Amino acid sequence: MIKYKTPEEIEKMRAAAQVVSRTLGMLAKEVKPGAIPWDLDKLAEEYIRDQGAEPGFLGLYGCPSTLLISRNETVVHGLPVKKPLEEGDIVSIDCGALLDGYYGDHAFTFEVGEVAAETKKLLRVTKESLYKGIEQMQAGRRLGDVSYAIQAHAEAHGYGVVRELVGHGIGSTMHEDPQVPNYGKQGRGKKLQEGLVLAIEPMITMGTYRVKQLSDGWTINTVDGKPAAHFEHDVAIVNGQPDILSTYDYIFEALGVKESEW
Ligand code: MG
Ligand code: MG
Repeated sequence: MIKYKTPEEIEKMRAAAQVVSRTLGMLAKEVKPGAIPWDLDKLAEEYIRDQGAEPGFLGLYGCPSTLLISRNETVVHGLPVKKPLEEGDIVSIDCGALLDGYYGDHAFTFEVGEVAAETKKLLRVTKESLYKGIEQMQAGRRLGDVSYAIQAHAEAHGYGVVRELVGHGIGSTMHEDPQVPNYGKQGRGKKLQEGLVLAIEPMITMGTYRVKQLSDGWTINTVDGKPAAHFEHDVAIVNGQPDILSTYDYIFEALGVKESEW
């Protein structure tokens, strides 16, 4: 059952999403060759608690960490290990926060030092596909319109769209109905309406879209070992239109580039 949010609830969700956005912005300066994912996780936990919020993932389904840090061929759900990041890596950092009873859930894939041009393109196209999906978050459209827009943009560039993992509704619980696949058909699925809040999160691969879970029970890797990217925003329908509750502004401010020029 979908729980539509009141304007008051949406403002609380914006505050929770902004905690995550600021956390990712803080981390943007720390993601560099030699950085230890384990250390980034501890830094993020402290930063979230300093803002009066709680880590959203820690303890959820037994999750051992504040961040999920997914490097190169890891699509999502990578655990913060002590192995340092290396020049040329890409690393998705997915973060959740709980503030005043509501969750934020938001992710960005960072470049570690200089990355190959083809890898950079994967990141750019994945982020674009997120915004293509967000554009469809309008009252009266269908869930399949969001899914289709993401898939069409990624596949137009020859990339794979992961099937096994999807976006989701979000609110006073981290994962609510509906599921939001990154693939689908236009005009199909639930009609979108005022107060819907979704975590939209394309997971896009350079090669095959097939993935496998590692024996740690968390890490999801591409089967062919090629890189994957992951971007996620929390988006509400307000006055019939998409209202992005999270923001990448803090990240781009830290990186010293405009989002449009990245
Ligand atoms: Mg997430
Ligand atoms: Mg999510």
